Amino acid sequence: MEKVFQIAVDGPSGAGKSTVAKAVAKKLNIEYIDTGAMYRALGLKILDMSVSMDDEDALRTLLGKTDIDFVDGNIILDGQVVSGLIRTPEVSMAASRCSAFPFIREKLVKAQQKMGESKSVIMDGRDIATAVFPNAKYKYFITASDEERAKRRYKELLEKGEDVTFEQVLKDIRQRDHNDMTRDASPLKKAEDAEEIDTTNMSIDDVVDYICRQVKL
Ligand code: C5P
Repeated sequence: MEKVFQIAVDGPSGAGKSTVAKAVAKKLNIEYIDTGAMYRALGLKILDMSVSMDDEDALRTLLGKTDIDFVDGNIILDGQVVSGLIRTPEVSMAASRCSAFPFIREKLVKAQQKMGESKSVIMDGRDIATAVFPNAKYKYFITASDEERAKRRYKELLEKGEDVTFEQVLKDIRQRDHNDMTRDASPLKKAEDAEEIDTTNMSIDDVVDYICRQVKL
């Protein structure tokens, strides 16, 4: 029987983690889990319900009544597919803010650990190698310069028809990096035993090939 293993992919926003992880999953025929989508789904619900990020009691109540899952690669929030609603700048910022609450991370991390314990997965996020799967067999920290990351995110948002400026996207990325790296609960940082891959001047295919060559099935 094939042994179950995890590939942990962490790094800042827009470094190419999800594109790389999705392609690696396809090549290796394992499951891809986008943990950012889970924080985004919760951020979307917080915005939709007009709950204040300063009202911890209300956030706890909302979390207790929230169900987040994946079905066929789609993110499901309380039984509804929300994949098409979670990539806006507003939801990005709400995800970044709500992800700083330890009780929120605790619930989502538990769900992520469950998803990756019985089947091989590649999971991307900010704390996969440090908190979700500290014993993952493969750990990568994917980075790129902040200008390059903003360029990629700006292009993506324009293609989706979002009305944004490059300056705003760069500012948002820097703000989210700051939030992610300075929060007390599982801040974004490279695990000591993770390998750093700077994708500023690399193609996605190069990164995917590099990772796939290292993984022994
Ligand atoms: O990866 P993505 O940009 O979709 O994540 C949205 C936000 O969710 C991030 O800015 C980060 O604050 C949060 N996040 C997190 N831990 C993860 C994944 C995402 O804190 N494992």
